[in-house]
Formats: sequence, C-alpha cells, structure tokens
Amino acid sequence: MSEYTKPLPRPTATSRPFWEAAKRHELMLQQCASCKAFIYYPRDRCPNCFSDRLEWQRMSGRGKLYTYTVVRRASTRSFADKPYVLAIVELDEGPRMTTNLEAAPEQIKIGMPVTAHFDDVTPEQSLVKFRPA
Ligand SMILES: [Zn+2]
Repeated sequence: MSEYTKPLPRPTATSRPFWEAAKRHELMLQQCASCKAFIYYPRDRCPNCFSDRLEWQRMSGRGKLYTYTVVRRASTRSFADKPYVLAIVELDEGPRMTTNLEAAPEQIKIGMPVTAHFDDVTPEQSLVKFRPA
C-alpha cells in the first residue's frame, strides 16, 4: 500500500462522529430534532432553524448525481497527480453532499444513480466518496 500524500481531515468535536462512522464504512449525517432537516457538513446548530438538538442518523449511501465538475488543474500540488471529479450528490434521504465521484468523466451523467464507498486512506481514516451505482 502506497503512502497517502493528500491532506487528511482533522476531526473536531462536532465532526468526529461523521469520521468515526466513515471508518466503520457507514454514512452518518446530522438531523435536526426540531425541524427534521438533514445537515451536511457537521455543525453545532441547525442552519435551518438554529436548534442545537441535532442527532446522528445513518444514511443509505444511495443517491443521484446532482451536479459535478472535472478538476483538471488542481489548486494545490497535493491534488495535481490526476484529474478528479468534484461532485454534489443528492442522497435518497434528501440532503446534498459535496464529495468526490470516482468515475471516468465520459461515463458521468447528471442524475445518474451513485452509491457511497469508503476509501481507507490510512489505518486511522477513511474518506467518503461515491461511485456509479
Ligand atoms: Zn432545524
């Protein structure tokens, strides 16, 4: 296994449950107990109603491609090894996630079904990415 050289997430008290779930190969997002909105990225308060009554819910990992771009000129050297697909996926449960879509650009279509997968980049950390379903 080659060494992972890209920047790694630094979990905070707020985001730690998301990263711990990813390590277990589970996709967990926050849901507001007051207004039921799903929240991504992890926060201390609901961006919809400002409640701090947030609960972690397991998502199916299924969704569809909402939009994407192919990054061919990376903004930092760490990501300059090859083009990658920066995507927004709309989960079946409703929330949208900014993520990586692991797919050849010529096979990508808006609205295509996608599924989460977990890239174990180090023994301690896994990243949530998506692939065509
Ligand atoms: Zn809310």
